[in-house]
Amino acid sequence: MKFIKMVSFFSFIVFFMNCSKTDTTTTTTIVTPSSNLAVPTVYLKIYGASSITNDGNYITIKTKNLPDHKSPYYPTTNSLYEAYSGPTFTGVNFMKNPNSIVEQSATYKIPVNAQVNTAHAATPLGAIGIALNGVAFFNQYAGPSQPLSGEIVSFDKYYGHPQQSGVYHYHVEPLYLTTVKSTKSGLLGFLLDGFPVYGPQEEDGTLVYNTLLDVYHGHSHKTVDYPNGTYHYHFTNEAPYLNGSGFYGTPGTITQ
Ligand SMILES: [Zn+2]
Ligand SMILES: [Zn+2]
Repeated sequence: MKFIKMVSFFSFIVFFMNCSKTDTTTTTTIVTPSSNLAVPTVYLKIYGASSITNDGNYITIKTKNLPDHKSPYYPTTNSLYEAYSGPTFTGVNFMKNPNSIVEQSATYKIPVNAQVNTAHAATPLGAIGIALNGVAFFNQYAGPSQPLSGEIVSFDKYYGHPQQSGVYHYHVEPLYLTTVKSTKSGLLGFLLDGFPVYGPQEEDGTLVYNTLLDVYHGHSHKTVDYPNGTYHYHFTNEAPYLNGSGFYGTPGTITQ
């Protein structure tokens, strides 16, 4: 017994010495503070935000919600003011609503790892997501159970308009992004659940119809931004345009 114990003890010493040897090559692990994680590059495509940070659980996006394109809804003193008369979405003639664009102070918290949630929470009235230029996406309703049809006429030439408190937003394809800043098949922004929003075409140029999408108005496949594939929403030319019967995933929050 005594001998065995001694052998064990000797083995322990050898083991310990080996450990000491390897310790000299061990590198220090730097623990990055959780408030300072790198923002995934796909979120850096949101060029209109005031700030974008990542705490490991949520991407926090702060925005003034000011469109970076001309609009008849800017005060006439603003350099981006431009009068407009002519056709808008669906071909109807534009008729200005009484509201004006007002700078906001909005904070979106979007889950870093977007995940399906079988509860599929209904999208609220107001902002349901954020476009690359920092402007809000709204759903297909003008008010509680009110269809959008009466409001379409007030979309400006880039298909956005402000509501009563001056929050500019897009219910349908944001034309400035799909024709100037991105493409018809490009990334346009994110909904609050972290799943990306794409334009009305796929990357091969085919038009996306509602019948190709699920009831949440999305589907899954690879995109240039997500080479491993992802669930994503598409804008289409038919109601509900962007979102159908709720979020596909677990929505984050927005505070104004
Ligand atoms: Zn609206
Ligand atoms: Zn798609």
